[in-house]
Amino acid sequence: ETHAPILEVRDLAVTYGGVVQALRGVDITVGEGSVVALLGSNGAGKTTLLRTLSGTLKLHKGRVESGEVRYRGSSLKGRDPARCVADGLVQVPEGRRIFSRLTVEENLKAGGLGAKDKSTRAPAQERVYDLFPVLADRRTQRAGLLSGGEQQMLAIGRGLMAGPKLLLLDEPSLGLAPRIIGQIGEVIREINRQGTSVLLVEQNATMALGVADTAFVLDVGKVSLQGPAVELAQSDAVQRLYLGHG
Ligand code: ATP
Repeated sequence: ETHAPILEVRDLAVTYGGVVQALRGVDITVGEGSVVALLGSNGAGKTTLLRTLSGTLKLHKGRVESGEVRYRGSSLKGRDPARCVADGLVQVPEGRRIFSRLTVEENLKAGGLGAKDKSTRAPAQERVYDLFPVLADRRTQRAGLLSGGEQQMLAIGRGLMAGPKLLLLDEPSLGLAPRIIGQIGEVIREINRQGTSVLLVEQNATMALGVADTAFVLDVGKVSLQGPAVELAQSDAVQRLYLGHG
């Protein structure tokens, strides 16, 4: 079965201050209903791509020099971050930036504020608690008291409260123990099974390729490899560079 892509990045070039070329000729497609992994080492341009998608590039003195990004068939050019969220393009930032002084439940409520349809907030919260029972157990606890893994789950849960059609995940495995990374991977699959497309930006290739349908590797601002995740996991280059074999 083929679907129209939910996200198309076409021939995208981005610079900072017109000098640093962070992305050059980047083409990335996220098929509707799929999980796509974006791999790459430090400085490859992953964060720059996410900034472009979330409309925050300007805040970092970055500029789209050429190319375009289409979300659900229309260009994202000039669309402000709040409208992106309302349109279902929702980013979960790196480093689990949750409100540590607020409770788990208050964090989730905050995540639902940008949603288009307020009536979906209660079911969205139940969905989050079903996906992460540990958050339900701790709903009245201050978020700052959660473990690192639980904070990451809360960050993802807060993103889900906005009713995403495409969820952008920025390095959800960062700093977590392998067992917790496995749990996060399983939840990403479940979120996708429930109908949300996912762009998973990761340095952890094992986790990302285990979860994704297709994958792209960014290398100094360009896509160097792409294909089905199972094939990339077998490729010599990925084995050598990212999986520590070779
Ligand atoms: P990391 O995993 O370390 O965040 P990354 O793959 O996300 O790496 P980017 O942060 O997108 O990579 O960086 C891509 C390039 O753009 C790098 O050369 C980086 O130094 C540069 N860069 C990023 N942000 C800025 C900025 N605000 N001003 C100037 N250069 C920047």
